[in-house]
Amino acid sequence: MYKRRCNVCGQKKSDKKFLHGKKKTCISCERRWWMRVLRLMVLERKLTPMERLGNRLGYMGSAFIMMSPYLLPYGIGGYTYLLGAVCSLPQVWIAKQWNLVAINFNLLIGYGLYIWNS
Ligand SMILES: [Zn+2]
Repeated sequence: MYKRRCNVCGQKKSDKKFLHGKKKTCISCERRWWMRVLRLMVLERKLTPMERLGNRLGYMGSAFIMMSPYLLPYGIGGYTYLLGAVCSLPQVWIAKQWNLVAINFNLLIGYGLYIWNS
C-alpha cells in the first residue's frame, strides 16, 4: 500500500489519513487544537460600516488626486487636489496610517496656499 509522509509529524501514513490527494499534512495533525487556534486567529475580519464608508471615499479621493496634475493648467487642479485630500483623509485616519494622514494634510496646506496665492 502506498504511504505518504506528513509534513508536520513526519510519519509515513496511508492515503486514508490525508483529506485529499494534494494534502501534505495528515488529518490528525491538521485538527490539533493549536491548528484550530491559528485558524481562528486568521479568520477574515469584517469591516465596520465606518471603514467601508472610508474605503469608498478613499477611492473617490484618490481618483481626484490622480486627475489633479492634468487639471492644474486649467485652474481647477488645486480644488480637485483639496477635494481628494479631504475625501481620502477619513480612510487613512480610521486605519491609523499616520504617514498618509501627514501626506494628506500636506496636500491640504500646500494646495490651500497655492489657491490662496493665485
Ligand atoms: Zn501528521
